[in-house]
Amino acid sequence: MKVQENVSLAALTTFQVGGPARYLVEATTNAEVAEAVQFSRAQGLPLFVLGGGSNLVVADAGWPGVALKIAIAGIDERTEDGKLLFDVGAGVEWDKFVARAVARNCSGIECLSGIPGSVGGTPVQNVGAYGQEVAETIEAVLALDMKDGQIRELCNEACGFSYRTSIFNTRERGRYIILRVTYALEPGGAPRAHYADLKRYFAGREAPTLAETRDAVRRIRAGKGMLITPGDEDCRSAGSFFKNPVLSAGQFGELAARAKAKNLQIPSYPALDAQKKVSAGWLVEHSGFGKGFGFGRVGISRKHALAIVNRGEATAGEVVAFKEMIQERVVDLWGIRLEPEPVFVGF
Ligand SMILES: Cc1cc2nc3c(=O)[nH]c(=O)nc-3n(C[C@H](O)[C@H](O)[C@H](O)COP(=O)(O)OP(=O)(O)OC[C@H]3O[C@@H](n4cnc5c(N)ncnc54)[C@H](O)[C@@H]3O)c2cc1C
Repeated sequence: MKVQENVSLAALTTFQVGGPARYLVEATTNAEVAEAVQFSRAQGLPLFVLGGGSNLVVADAGWPGVALKIAIAGIDERTEDGKLLFDVGAGVEWDKFVARAVARNCSGIECLSGIPGSVGGTPVQNVGAYGQEVAETIEAVLALDMKDGQIRELCNEACGFSYRTSIFNTRERGRYIILRVTYALEPGGAPRAHYADLKRYFAGREAPTLAETRDAVRRIRAGKGMLITPGDEDCRSAGSFFKNPVLSAGQFGELAARAKAKNLQIPSYPALDAQKKVSAGWLVEHSGFGKGFGFGRVGISRKHALAIVNRGEATAGEVVAFKEMIQERVVDLWGIRLEPEPVFVGF
């Protein structure tokens, strides 16, 4: 177990804001994770689990406790009931695992290509994109239960997945440290390319392969600043900053009436409509925060209305002030409170 003191967390996150952790501990095995938990308890300090740092806003004052960086490696394969099961260490980079699955000609996660972060981070908010989410293919999650120090395997149902949520970021937040995730993928399965952007990309071509779908997703993401690309400041972010609001029929009716009064129409996307969601990006854009909007050292990505970006040397305070400004304006204009997607650390 590697222990360092007063280490900047900004450098360990994609947003690149925020102060230092009192301790940064890196764990490469299950035993080291348990040791790190003991260390934080012995110090009487709170513990925060850090994956790839791609969904975080760290406070300017930093984290006063132990930041535990999960660096458990390894991908093992086995066959069960016609599926290929991958047991993947929580510290494995997510996109490397997707590349491996596609190279093994297994379908189920190809649309999730190019999402930054670690495998251990994926169950937390049930990562999703382009018509796929990890809840569809996660077989089990192996985790250290901080309640009693036991290592438990949680089956898919026990993880309580729904849109951008699981037990890990709701009712059991802070209880489990994810050590390994088992994915059940389909050997020789067809790629899923029903999402509008992908359909457009492949229009007039033959059915794409898994590798072509992965490539298309990465290209589409790069065009939106949603692929970490060195030198592209539009991806100095935490990805989408707000969740798409899920509305009741009454709320949707009220929103549509407000739009009509402004001579606007709420855009309809099959993927969102099916879950009674409306586009948070549309709400942000139609509240005066278009692509490229600047607010000092923060702003809206030039390529995507839903990403707040750090234009360089921004503080977490600036990010939060901008986020609140957007939330207030959206409430005033549309009567909807947008909920942030990233995790706020040390606030
Ligand atoms: C450019 C960009 C594009 C993105 N696109 C998408 C997208 O398309 N879809 C999507 O869903 N997300 C997207 N994201 C958000 C982010 O990449 C995912 O949520 C990712 O899964 C977070 O994983 P991470 O390892 O970086 O977690 P971190 O950011 O390090 O942590 C996030 C949360 O997970 C917890 N956590 C992390 N690892 C563990 C573990 N091993 N055990 C217990 N808890 C843990 C942390 O404590 C924290 O609460 C994007 C982000 C960026 C910057």
